[in-house]
Amino acid sequence: MSSGYELKDLEELTSNAKQIQDDVLKEILTLNATTKYLRQFLHGNSDKELFKKSVPVVSYDDVWPYIERVANGEQTDLISGGPITRFLGSSGTSGGKQKIFPVNDKYTEKLGYVLALRSLVMSKHASDNGVEQGKTMEFNYVRPEPKTPSGLPVSTVFTSFFMSDYFKNRTSKHSSEYTSPDQVILCPDNNQSLYCHLLCGLVQRDEVMRIGATFAYPLVLAINYLENHWKELCNNIRAGHVSEWITNLDCRNAVSAILGGPNHKLADVIEQECSHKSWEGIITRLWPKTKYMESIFTGQMAQYIPILEFYSNKLPLVSTTYGSSESTFGLNVDPLRKPEDVSYTFVPNISYFEFLPVDHEGDMESIVDLVNVKLGFYYEPVVTNYFGLHRYLIGDILQVTGFYNSTPQFRFVRRKNVVLSVETEATTEEDLLKALAHATQVIESSNFMLVGFTCYADISTCPGHYVFYWELKAKGANDVVELDKNVLVECCCVLEESFDALYRDLRTREGLIGALEIRVVQQGTFDSLMEYFISQGGSVAQYKTPLCVNSSEALAVLENKVLARFFSERSPPLDL
Ligand code: AMP
Repeated sequence: MSSGYELKDLEELTSNAKQIQDDVLKEILTLNATTKYLRQFLHGNSDKELFKKSVPVVSYDDVWPYIERVANGEQTDLISGGPITRFLGSSGTSGGKQKIFPVNDKYTEKLGYVLALRSLVMSKHASDNGVEQGKTMEFNYVRPEPKTPSGLPVSTVFTSFFMSDYFKNRTSKHSSEYTSPDQVILCPDNNQSLYCHLLCGLVQRDEVMRIGATFAYPLVLAINYLENHWKELCNNIRAGHVSEWITNLDCRNAVSAILGGPNHKLADVIEQECSHKSWEGIITRLWPKTKYMESIFTGQMAQYIPILEFYSNKLPLVSTTYGSSESTFGLNVDPLRKPEDVSYTFVPNISYFEFLPVDHEGDMESIVDLVNVKLGFYYEPVVTNYFGLHRYLIGDILQVTGFYNSTPQFRFVRRKNVVLSVETEATTEEDLLKALAHATQVIESSNFMLVGFTCYADISTCPGHYVFYWELKAKGANDVVELDKNVLVECCCVLEESFDALYRDLRTREGLIGALEIRVVQQGTFDSLMEYFISQGGSVAQYKTPLCVNSSEALAVLENKVLARFFSERSPPLDL
């Protein structure tokens, strides 16, 4: 989506990172020096050294009182010198509540700028390798935008992007790069959008050069949906008529125009490919000119690499950008690197970036500027943005892997504290323990106790779901555990109800997370699990049952001892 930008911008930015970062900080401090928040530390000053000495490094709980007051309608100059026009709802939570961050149109412009640079990097790669431009089949969606008490919308980063004037007014060259018309992206019913994305993509299958989504999981879901709906899609193509249940008129009209008249030949080809018993390579069979898939395949999304490689006959998986609701950070300038080797080059004119070395959490003196990070070292980014966050800890761990001109490149190592995730939700250790405490009350009202537990995100089902392994023991010394289905199903429901708003939304409204499952294991299973870990070099003295298991060997130890499985039977309630 490049519009007036050139690749040499990237060279200039990354060659002058120090100066640009100094200018960005100056601009931010001049804009925000008189806010109530900054005045308490800087007394109206906008000096960089004073900022470094006096402004504290903060987490969400520190800034929430200010954000909450603005969300409730108080003057935005409490925290921000510029206007606040919306909040971005993050996948992160604090105290069980979704984090929200104030922004204005400048956020979208800066995100658009990084996306444009990414697009230029990709085009250069394509032309260097003699690849035609063609079209992108991209699974983009918008989500509903609830309002704060002051009436400002709370949206996800990409909902605000796709609904922005920046996106609407992009040049016609770039609006025709997707197989789906904007009406499909903007359709409020995500089920109708998904169906139409696939229909448009199938009709234009010979033009599709890239397949993408912001995160990897929607790609997996799209293929799974296709597996269940290809007959209906083929019928639509054969008849030249969009299914009646596509009721959103804008979407329906735009898709009908792309569908054109009946096309028996195309329907037959698709039907033949989809009728194969194995879906191995289905992506390259249906869209034979596809050169790569474009999304985010690092961090939590790395779990979807094997299934996407299976569906695509190992097409290159290009990780695009790294960003958050707090700020966009950077882009991958070396697109064909394998996902495990991907690094993101920070873009120095987006926000002011500092870095707290890992293991120095209490020592704020050790924070360094963007250009002063050291190769191979691990850091947590600290962001000062234009909209009221000052020295805010992002909660990701990154490792410096190299420099592009004078700008560092980082590998995404992990998100701090997150133990379970299927989609974009980020369930932390704290969330798990809280949910478990609620479920324990249910078990204790029955005749047994929980003596061992661990969990994992099972993504072999579609949608993926959380699985808890539980070892139970009867309260009476000689009693046997008689499993009561009602109690265990209730436990599943209570666990789900205890998770945060994003989990419940993805599970109940969007259907992107499946029903939570408890697998009750035989007595002694957790001893066997410990033996397994000790055999791998762990020490008995230090052993702690992991809250969450990922290794296939450890899972096999548990799976061999499963006695019974129970699923949640009601959807957890949404926040109003
Ligand atoms: P959100 O809070 O919903 O805005 O999500 C932002 C978080 O998503 C970041 O702090 C990261 O933990 C994660 N994330 C975003 N981009 C990437 C990426 N390219 N690779 C790995 N994780 C990412």
